[in-house]
Amino acid sequence: MKERILQLANEEQTVALGRAVANACQRGVVINLYGDLGAGKTTFSRGFLQALGHQGHVKSPTYTLVEPYDLPDGQVFHFDLYRLTDPEELEFMGIRDYFSPESICLVEWPQQGKGFLPEADLELHLTYQDEGRQAHFIAFSANGESLLEELQAL
Ligand code: ADP
Ligand code: MG
Repeated sequence: MKERILQLANEEQTVALGRAVANACQRGVVINLYGDLGAGKTTFSRGFLQALGHQGHVKSPTYTLVEPYDLPDGQVFHFDLYRLTDPEELEFMGIRDYFSPESICLVEWPQQGKGFLPEADLELHLTYQDEGRQAHFIAFSANGESLLEELQAL
C-alpha cells in the first residue's frame, strides 16, 4: 500500500494515530511530517513517543532542532527544522549520525533541510479539515509500505 488517507476528528485521534504508527514501526524508519503550524505534527509525535514508552511531555524542539529520546526499544530522534535557516547547519550538527539503522527519526519541517536529509520511508501530510485534520500518508520504501499495511485496521 503506497498511500492512505484518514480523517482525524479531534486531538485524541491524532495521538491515537501516532501510537498506531509507532506500534507498526521498525527500527531505522524515517518519517517526515508535513503540515502548517498547528496541524498536529507534534501531537502525532507525542502519541508515537508515548507508545514506545516515553512518559511526559513532548515539545517541538524548535530551538535545539532535535530532541533525543532513549526508549526501551532504542532511540527515537524528534526533529523540528522550522527555524533552520541554512540546511548546511545540518552538516555541522552531524546529521548523518542520527539516521542509523537502530534509530527511528521523526522530522517536522523536513522541507527546511532539503538536500541534507536522507529519503523518508513515510511521509505524513497533515491538513486542516473543518474542525479536525486530514492525515495523508505516502510510503517511499518497502518498510513504509508495510507500515501502512499494518495500519489497515484503523
Ligand atoms: P504542529 O506541531 O503541527 O505545529 P501541534 O501538534 O503542536 O502542531 O498542535 C496541534 C494543535 O491542534 C494542538 O492544539 C492540538 O490540540 C490540535 N489538534 C491536533 N489534532 C487535532 C485534530 N485531529 N482535530 C482538531 N485539533 C487537533
Ligand atoms: Mg510542532
